[in-house]
Amino acid sequence: MAGSAVYKRVLLKASGEALMGDQGFGIDVAVADRIASDIAEARALGVEVGVVIGGGNIFRGVAVASKGGDRVTGDHMGMLATVINSLALRTSLVKIGIDTVVLSAVAMPEFCETFSQRLATAYMDMGKVVIFAGGTGNPFFTTDSAAALRAAEIGADALFKGTQVDGIYSADPKKDPNAVRFDHLSHKDVLDRGLAVMDTTAVALARENNIPIIVYSIHEKGGFAEVLQGRGRATVVSD
Ligand code: UDP
Repeated sequence: MAGSAVYKRVLLKASGEALMGDQGFGIDVAVADRIASDIAEARALGVEVGVVIGGGNIFRGVAVASKGGDRVTGDHMGMLATVINSLALRTSLVKIGIDTVVLSAVAMPEFCETFSQRLATAYMDMGKVVIFAGGTGNPFFTTDSAAALRAAEIGADALFKGTQVDGIYSADPKKDPNAVRFDHLSHKDVLDRGLAVMDTTAVALARENNIPIIVYSIHEKGGFAEVLQGRGRATVVSD
């Protein structure tokens, strides 16, 4: 199987909600284990994998701000949520023998190592899965933006965005039966049409750095490996 992947190094972005499964909150370990097995398949193909996980299954900064609280503190709480998710995914990966490190944008050396671009690329060169925790380390950003930033920093060939559905649609396919699915779009198309797949900062950053965004369903078991080999259903965003 090794060697048949189209990409050598990728950054996978999964939202925190992807870890939640059917629960209303938190982490479903069975789902974390499934995502870990998808990443293991990618490693078996020889693909170097970096991962950014969101924190929406635990906390989002806007939840504090919308109730009159301090947005910056709320965002700090959201970034901490991404660390919890990253440690959970590392646990699932290590359990199945995948060498994995968590690098946090915010130093918390008792829990994990601190991010630096040099350390990240060195670990990826060694074949370790690197999970980037703590988002960008700054409030008012999202983990989508963190994913585009880390993808640029590690020189990723593509940014994979695992979503609830198998690509980008003209409208939410779960709400609009007339929604049309796209096989290919440019970064500009996504920005101009305001397609809600990643936030605009993330798409703009990917565009400036010529990084394709591949949108696929994270719920499809084995789907990551399929798309890595140029098969399966996905929308490719590239110029
Ligand atoms: N966050 C932040 N800066 C970042 C990344 C994330 O402040 O660079 C905070 C923000 O409050 C956000 C929360 O962390 O709402 C969780 O991230 P996100 O909403 O992107 O998670 P997802 O929707 O992907 O689960």
